[in-house]
Formats: sequence, structure tokens, C-alpha cells
Amino acid sequence: MTDAATRNDALTVDGLRTYLHCPRRYELAYVHDLEGSDDDTVVDRIALLRATICDALRHGETDPDALESVAHDRLATRWADYDEPFHSVAQRRHERRVLEATLAAYVERVGVDHAAGVERLDAETARGELIGPELPLSSTVSMSDPAVEIDATVDYVYGDGSSLVGVRFVPTLAPLGWLRYRSDWEGDVAERFIDHFDDESNVFEPGPVGALFETAVVLDGLRNLRDRLGLGERTCRYVQIPLADRSGVTVNWVQETVETTLEIADLTEVYVDHHTFGMTHDHRNTTVDDRLAAVVADLRSGPFDPTERWDQIATHACPDCEYTVCCQEYVAEEVRFDG
Ligand code: SF4
Repeated sequence: MTDAATRNDALTVDGLRTYLHCPRRYELAYVHDLEGSDDDTVVDRIALLRATICDALRHGETDPDALESVAHDRLATRWADYDEPFHSVAQRRHERRVLEATLAAYVERVGVDHAAGVERLDAETARGELIGPELPLSSTVSMSDPAVEIDATVDYVYGDGSSLVGVRFVPTLAPLGWLRYRSDWEGDVAERFIDHFDDESNVFEPGPVGALFETAVVLDGLRNLRDRLGLGERTCRYVQIPLADRSGVTVNWVQETVETTLEIADLTEVYVDHHTFGMTHDHRNTTVDDRLAAVVADLRSGPFDPTERWDQIATHACPDCEYTVCCQEYVAEEVRFDG
């Protein structure tokens, strides 16, 4: 068994997010490396689209038709080797149409601008460094002892005016919760973030808090990348694009056509606090960054006991947890109810 208190390997933002939902879940998934019971289908489809879009961006087209055509060709090639077990040929055909519609929506909504932004940066650096999929970024939390490195990924980086923007493809924006409908840190976002960590409050917001932690790590990782590539004094931004959100999909079963729309989430403004920005001219937030360091220190020291926040975890985290069958607290609670 790994001793979590003395391990010094890197943490990931996914691990942190898991820990915020439930420390026991983190222990089972990341310390004991137990497989959950999640369906990997969505993950595979996202991986397919993520690789396709990165291929198309790497090709360097900035004209809308040319970019869509390259993306379409790349998807066709990857689809030929894609071996998800569909129920029928019709279902396989339909899923391909949904993926094609998602690609078309991406190109129309942001793809052309982003491709041009990659080209602009490419003049100053090597494109291989800007396009993934899953470009590794990392941030070091030096307030804990020993310092801990936290890893995150983005799928590509582009230039937008005086900003360097990291883009990550995600399945949906659902984990952001109410954060996706907010546009500033000051006010509601700051209050709920602080309340999540307040013992006197029953606010429990692991999704939005995890997204703010992820934003802190990604922006710091982008600043490190910017400095390493000599990209000047640009500020950094972080954007998520959902590729498996079916809520915008419209199907015409007669004409056999599929259309969809894409919602983009720029997490920069909900993270940045204007006081810190005014002092540093960097997109930072000392409240989030300090709390991130405290949570990392907690996580490193174990013992992953969920009982302190049991009511909130039992209500909000256990119902969709993949580890119920091997979780001592969950099993004990079941026995208590049955008995
Ligand atoms: S079942 Fe509940 S207590 Fe157990 S690991 Fe999952 S979320 Fe945590």
C-alpha cells in the first residue's frame, strides 16, 4: 500500500476534484488504484474528436471550408478504426453523424478563430508545442512542504490579442454547475467558494470549487509554458469546450441529418479577483490559490476519512459514486438502514 502522507509524486486536477467530492473516493481511486464502474464510451468518443480536431489544427488551415474539410477527412480515417460495439449499423451511422455535426459546430463557432490564433503563435514558436491532444501543464504548490506539483492538460494553446489561451475539450459543462452561468468572481462565486470550506455552513460545491482549482492550475501552467517558450508578457486564459453535450443536438430522422450547437465556457473571469489582478497584472486569485495549497496539504496528510462532512457526502456524492461496493462507510450506512 502506498503511504499517501509521504508520497511526493504529482497530483492531478482530476484527483483533486475527486478529493473534493469525497476523500475516501480519492483514496480508493488514486491511492489504491481501484477501477471504478464508469462507462468509457463517452471518454472514447471525446478522445476521437479531440485527436481529430488537433490533427486538423496541426494542418494549419484557417479558411473555414478548408478547415472543416480537413477535420472531416481526419474523422473519417479515425472512424474506420473506431471499434465501439454499437447495437446496429444504424446506431453506428447515427453516432458518426453526431460527431460530424459536433465538428461542424466547432469549426463554425470557434475553430476558424482558434486556428488563426494558433497560426499567429506559431510564428513565434513551434506548433508541436501548442497542439496536443492533452498537452501537459503543471503548477507547483510551494506553500506545502515538500512542494507538490499538480498536473493538468489542455488540448491546444492559441494566441488572442494580448492573451495566451489554453483550450480543453471536456464531455459536458455539467460539472461546472452554476459556475457556467456566472461571469465574475466577486459576489456570489466568491461567497459560495468560501462557504464550501466553512465548517458552520452546509454549502457543498465540489464541482464549481474543483473547476476553480483546475483554472488556477491551468493558468499557472500556461504562464510556465509562456515563459519557457519566450512568449512575452501575455496574460493567460482558460476555456473549456464540451464535445459530448447532447442537449443542443437536433435530429431530422426523415432526412437523416443532425445539427448541434456548442456552448463555450471561459473560466478566466469567474476565477480572477480584481484586487490580485491589479497588484500583479496576472490572472490570479489569492483566495483560491491559498485554499488550493491548504487542500493539497490536507490530501497529502490523509487519512481520507469522509465522516467530518458525512451528511453532505452521503447526500451529494454517494448517489453517483462508482465505489459504493468497496466503501466501508457506504456499506456501514446501508447496513444501518437495513438493520
Ligand atoms: S460511496 Fe460515498 S463515502 Fe464511499 S467513496 Fe463513494 S462518495 Fe465516498
